Amino acid sequence: MRYLILFVLFVSSCDPGSKDGVEHYYLKKTEHRPDSHWSYEGATGPEHWGALSPGYSLAANGKRQSPINIDTSLVVEEAQPELIFRYRAKKKPDFINNGHSVQHEQENDGSEIEVGGKHYRLEQFHIHTPSEHTIDGQHFPLELHMVHKAADGEIAVLAIFYKEGNSSQALKYIADVQVPSEKGEEAVMHQSIRLNELIPDKPHYYSYSGSFTTPPCTEGVRWFILKQALEADGMILSKMADMLKGNNRPVQDLNGRTVYRE
Ligand SMILES: [Zn+2]
Repeated sequence: MRYLILFVLFVSSCDPGSKDGVEHYYLKKTEHRPDSHWSYEGATGPEHWGALSPGYSLAANGKRQSPINIDTSLVVEEAQPELIFRYRAKKKPDFINNGHSVQHEQENDGSEIEVGGKHYRLEQFHIHTPSEHTIDGQHFPLELHMVHKAADGEIAVLAIFYKEGNSSQALKYIADVQVPSEKGEEAVMHQSIRLNELIPDKPHYYSYSGSFTTPPCTEGVRWFILKQALEADGMILSKMADMLKGNNRPVQDLNGRTVYRE
């Protein structure tokens, strides 16, 4: 109930029609627009997002939208900067079901990635089932998004695919222990998870310039799609899929963009 009240206060204190498509208010739960504005199906589903609010126009008109299908035969090989992870070893994250995904809000503990000398602080992470990006037209059962922000405001999102296989302890904690099942519910995890277990040891990636995959679909997002899928057991994957019920935006046109790989 606490969150319902917060949402009501928020509605009365902001202008939902303001043309602030460049703002990254997606990042903080306190900056969320009312969740009822968009969904993944029906009259407020992805094909209608651009018409739901002036601030969402990029969802319809943007030329650098995400997610995309990565056609591996068209990917351009080019020297890519190394992804350096500085995630704090252990966390006891708090998760919120924001109605669209289960999201962890990261406090500023110094967790960051470094790419080509630029530092991006970890802001939050959340989950999509099935994957939003596809590789040669194929979805993975789950895609984890680690969302980072640089001092100049640039957003970098790391996407990690999960496939069925050996169990992932970190993902099991997220799925099993405390993930809130109802929109607006917040839960505190009592187990620590190692953020480093959520990513592969030697991350090789595809990169391209895209957008947030949720309204307002802000562009200028630097995407790193890790090539190596991690594994999670089928029970966990189906539990997450049941809970999130297809929170993947369909793939968007490339519009001439290039996807790079090392
Ligand atoms: Zn996402």
